[in-house]
Amino acid sequence: MNVVTTTQVIDPATERVVTTVELADEAATDAAIDRAHRAQVAWRAVAPGDRARLLRRFAEAVDADLEHLARLEVTNSGHTIGNARWEAGNVRDLLHYAAGIPERLLGQQIPVADGVDITFHEPLGVVGVIVPWNFPMPIAGWGFAPALAAGNTVVLKPAELTPLTAIRLGELALEAGLPEGVFQVLPGKGSVVGQRFVTNPKVRKVVFTGSTEVGTQIMAGCARQVKRVTLELGGKSANVVFADADLEAAAASAPDGVFDNAGQDCCARSRILVQRSVFDRFLELLEPAVRKVRVGDPAEASTDMGPLISAAHRQRVADFLEPTTDIAFTGTCPEGPGFWYPPTVVLPAAGTERVLTEEVFGPVVAVIAFEDEAEAIRLANDTEFGLSGSIWTSDVGRALRVSRAVEAGNLSVNSHASVRYWTPFGGFKRSGLGRELGPDAALAFTETKNVFIATT
Ligand code: NAD
Repeated sequence: MNVVTTTQVIDPATERVVTTVELADEAATDAAIDRAHRAQVAWRAVAPGDRARLLRRFAEAVDADLEHLARLEVTNSGHTIGNARWEAGNVRDLLHYAAGIPERLLGQQIPVADGVDITFHEPLGVVGVIVPWNFPMPIAGWGFAPALAAGNTVVLKPAELTPLTAIRLGELALEAGLPEGVFQVLPGKGSVVGQRFVTNPKVRKVVFTGSTEVGTQIMAGCARQVKRVTLELGGKSANVVFADADLEAAAASAPDGVFDNAGQDCCARSRILVQRSVFDRFLELLEPAVRKVRVGDPAEASTDMGPLISAAHRQRVADFLEPTTDIAFTGTCPEGPGFWYPPTVVLPAAGTERVLTEEVFGPVVAVIAFEDEAEAIRLANDTEFGLSGSIWTSDVGRALRVSRAVEAGNLSVNSHASVRYWTPFGGFKRSGLGRELGPDAALAFTETKNVFIATT
């Protein structure tokens, strides 16, 4: 008997069932990988200008569907409509950027005796992209856009909780004229579809974004076949505020730095380190900024923060607060239905509290004091993660010194901006392996080949 597994998609702001989605099993995953494998032979041979044109058309299709994609994300993920529009726009922009790649994937000519040495950036083949639930559209795009541009085919697995925008992106790719099998979206369980990306030898690279725990398993699984991996994993980023900073600006923007997407953001600045001489003043400024965060209906343009993704995740967030955790103040949130959680500021007493060392992935921020620059750097680096962070200071020399000393892939000075599709993104330490985005993104989807041609 053929048993089809399905999953219910829930609107996290209302707890209502939106739709039911079929989940692929192992046989369907292998069939999709086979299709991708066959399609890649023709896709890599498409003339660079034609591949670029198809990617541009895909970008235009996303643009034409932008409002629909954004609304779908609001319903499926509880993202605020403003964020969801930015996320769909990010995929569009990334596809336009990727459309510049096929004609610029340049090799080298290297001087040798008795001939010429030339290098080629060959596509890898089939790429499996595994996406988490927190940013379903952009994170999918960061994998599939450069991979396709470099001549690979892609099978994309969205997270179980958030498959809707990915499914729509798959339809748009076909409508834009991408050949059958070049870009497929396969909703399914991580333990089934995701694992098959790891074990099926026809998949030549796995791009994984998600928890450090699962990322570690994927890396170990891929090692058996020496399969290429890019890992974008967790974070526990520091927002370092020095006494010489514009304290008003630092406090006013700190909620944005951690509560954006309800804190379900790998770049969330979930530890605010404040120089002791301005600690009390900073908290005085932070409190009204936190109370001002409007939590509610994500479809309303005036809303700053929507719900968490699920009831289970809300419980997980709540569990980080131990009975002894000192809660400084909180914002407000609706009663329910919906998986709401208020913006919460805590003052942990010891460096061992879980809220200081583990990724909460919710709207909870810990504020701690430091004495001087050396202690700020030590505390910022006192984590197994190294993804992101901010430094607030009016001293340019200090900004550069601290930026160089903090072990993280993406730092901002007097800002919380982390992601631009044309600049590289990725983590140090247990936050990941490899870089996405930026001018070299496509090279991560190629093998460099050297060819010597004898002239004698
Ligand atoms: P998760 O690790 O539970 O799942 C991520 C994806 O992996 C999902 O699609 C899931 O189905 C799949 N998966 C689960 N088990 C698998 C397995 N055994 N084999 C293959 N695939 C498997 O993570 P999540 O809860 O969906 O996402 C939250 C995590 O993602 C956080 O830790 C967050 O920091 C991280 N994240 C990192 C970045 C980054 O760029 N560094 C960006 C966003 C999210």
